[in-house]
Amino acid sequence: MPDCIFCKIVAGEIPSRKVAENDHAIAFHDINPEQPVHILVVPKQHYSDVSHLALHESSITAEFMRFVAEVANEQTNGHFRLQFNTGSQAGQTVFHVHGHILSQNPKGSLA
Ligand code: AMP
Ligand code: ZN
Repeated sequence: MPDCIFCKIVAGEIPSRKVAENDHAIAFHDINPEQPVHILVVPKQHYSDVSHLALHESSITAEFMRFVAEVANEQTNGHFRLQFNTGSQAGQTVFHVHGHILSQNPKGSLA
């Protein structure tokens, strides 16, 4: 999708601090972290928000959620929040679906 910042990150046209990647999704550090762990997980295909993804692509959604859980467990001690802001009035500013993995407990820290 032209002019989509996360499509540009997927394509490598904009740099990111990548933490994990598979054929269908990437995970990278949020540029403006709100917690000690703040990672964004983004499907490589463009969907505007989690509703569009989940309502139209159930198998991609299932695979994406598996990747999210793998990244979250790898980057934290298993205690995290997963947030999908959906719609501008709910705080969504980038309209390419992304899950925020947020945690006070980076891997190796005490719970
Ligand atoms: P949201 O408000 O849910 O749409 O989240 C968008 C998130 O993307 C915000 O937390 C931003 O800090 C983050 N963000 C915007 N541009 C970049 C970028 N180039 N690299 C990493 N994170 C970004
Ligand atoms: Zn996009």
